[in-house]
Amino acid sequence: ACLLILCLPACSSQIPEGAPKSAIDQSDEEGFKRQRLRMVEQQIKARGIESEAVLQAMSKVPRHRFVPAPQASFAYEDHPLPIGHGQTISQPLIVAYMTEAAEITANDKVLEIGTGSGYQAAILGEVAKVVYTIEIIPELAASATQILSELGYKNVHVKTGDGYLGWPEHAPFDGIVVTAAPDQIPQALVDQLAIDGKMVIPVGTTSQQMVIVTKTREGVVQRKTIPVRFVPMVSKPGASK
Ligand code: SAH
Repeated sequence: ACLLILCLPACSSQIPEGAPKSAIDQSDEEGFKRQRLRMVEQQIKARGIESEAVLQAMSKVPRHRFVPAPQASFAYEDHPLPIGHGQTISQPLIVAYMTEAAEITANDKVLEIGTGSGYQAAILGEVAKVVYTIEIIPELAASATQILSELGYKNVHVKTGDGYLGWPEHAPFDGIVVTAAPDQIPQALVDQLAIDGKMVIPVGTTSQQMVIVTKTREGVVQRKTIPVRFVPMVSKPGASK
């Protein structure tokens, strides 16, 4: 399998000159698909992600379409990548981990904070019924909207806004996935979580921990899991948290 991956650029250049562009695109897509399935086996399954729905979503969503073109050939590698505006798309394992930890099922309504490239939103769109995602940088919200619509994700809704406020019009949410790190858990998001819902959120400044928040009728339970590194969750100056 290793050899196959390594020979990809050479393989694509073997397409005869003058071949229709679609033939070239198709061979690229097949190469990306092989890389993607290998990513799922070696980075995701091998590290303990078990949810069939999450593994299927990670096998399906074309991560290379969510990164800037010069980064496409690194899209299936085991690390975060820059997506412009000083932001990053998370390492594939972290995307899978958060989606699994949120325990999302096919009928769920999910909120994501920090749309970024739109990749995590697409993964959530595969496992949930409907996804609402908020991005504070308008240009990123616009490019994520564009790619999600090109790929046909009609159940993913993007807006430009401040994630500290959540999206009260669509609450309560069965799951909330926060992909930027606040220094403490925003109360508005806890309020917008459904009973029995789970929120997965990196918390902290210099050192961060992933926290899984479960809301029950009796109250809110927080469980710290793994150390992580996310970009900070920012707020518009003067906006109330
Ligand atoms: N989930 C993204 C990666 C997110 S990186 C992906 O799959 O590509 C974190 C994102 O959170 C950045 O795009 C950043 O602009 C955004 N962000 C930071 N603070 C925010 C806030 N208060 N509200 C909404 N988005 C925020």
